[in-house]
Amino acid sequence: MVVRFCGKLALVKTSWTPVSPKRRFYACPIKDSVCGFIGWVDLPMCARSKTIIPGLLRNINTLEEGCNEPVRSINMLEEQCNGLLSMNNMFAARCDALNDEGFKLKMYLCASWFMFVIVIFDIWPV
Ligand SMILES: [Zn+2]
Repeated sequence: MVVRFCGKLALVKTSWTPVSPKRRFYACPIKDSVCGFIGWVDLPMCARSKTIIPGLLRNINTLEEGCNEPVRSINMLEEQCNGLLSMNNMFAARCDALNDEGFKLKMYLCASWFMFVIVIFDIWPV
């Protein structure tokens, strides 16, 4: 059943307060409206339900928070892994540059020995 209020159709929402846990009520669809409380959809809960349901809700919230902790850890590890991967890429690029530099130095060394041998043979021909 839907109730008309201030020209709009009232929404059915659920209360999660400790006094009225999981009890549905009619609410104005306009956010921050001045219509106020319209009425309950459900009958009032018995005293035992009012005691048990908030405790169950707290347990669920605690369990959900516990379930979120591993997800936060995984996200943190993924961030660290991404940081290490970028460092690895940086070191790989540096290693390639050093290998190129080492190759050039080997070529200079070979060329200098070649020139040295030519000079030696020019000075003391066989
Ligand atoms: Zn309203």
